[in-house]
Amino acid sequence: MDRKYIDEKILEVFQTCNIKSFPLNFDVIFKYYNITCFPYTYKDENFREFCLKMSDDAFCWKGLILYNEKVIPGRLNFSFAHELGHIVLQHSQNRSKNIEQEANYFASRLLAPRIAIYYAKCKNLNDVSNLFGLTNEAADYAFQDFRRWHRHITYHKMNEIDKAMYLHFYDEKHKKFVYSIKECGICGRQLINFSESSCLSHHIDRTLYEQPDPLEQSLLIAENKWLYGDL
Ligand SMILES: [Zn+2]
Ligand SMILES: [Zn+2]
Repeated sequence: MDRKYIDEKILEVFQTCNIKSFPLNFDVIFKYYNITCFPYTYKDENFREFCLKMSDDAFCWKGLILYNEKVIPGRLNFSFAHELGHIVLQHSQNRSKNIEQEANYFASRLLAPRIAIYYAKCKNLNDVSNLFGLTNEAADYAFQDFRRWHRHITYHKMNEIDKAMYLHFYDEKHKKFVYSIKECGICGRQLINFSESSCLSHHIDRTLYEQPDPLEQSLLIAENKWLYGDL
């Protein structure tokens, strides 16, 4: 598996679809890639049975994505990302084990980029599950893989794709890595990197965002170097 190539393709999705916030909005992505989705219940019972024979979750068929709308949202997100992976990576219809692994690799990192898990300061799989819309199983894998990624960049350096990913999500206005943009459910104010769904009693006269914890020194130094130095 060419991980670097897949990482580049993930970054390309973020850049071309202008993705700036998690969990991913697949409406936006599918619109850009001109992908139409139909639920298994789109036609009659025969059609639904045909679909269920193809997959419990989702599959690509004649340029469409068909999906089982009865599965839990986290699982559906993973299915969408996995099928998008087959399309973006231009996989043939011959679905070998290797090809399925590539689509899973693509899906996991598209839904929860390791650098975004880092800046979101996720402490466990529950944080990852809630923030990125993953099932516990997918979040567990993503969090363990994130820890490997983190160990790697602590001893080595971020690679070029990680740096490009950082720059894509770095917000000039807020001077920080932004992984979540949403509106307060009560007042409609923009909430940046905010874990709650509304700003509740904290209505204050500016855009709300969490105060950053001090970043790990080693990474901060590295970051400043390539952000403001010789990039
Ligand atoms: Zn597949
Ligand atoms: Zn509010």
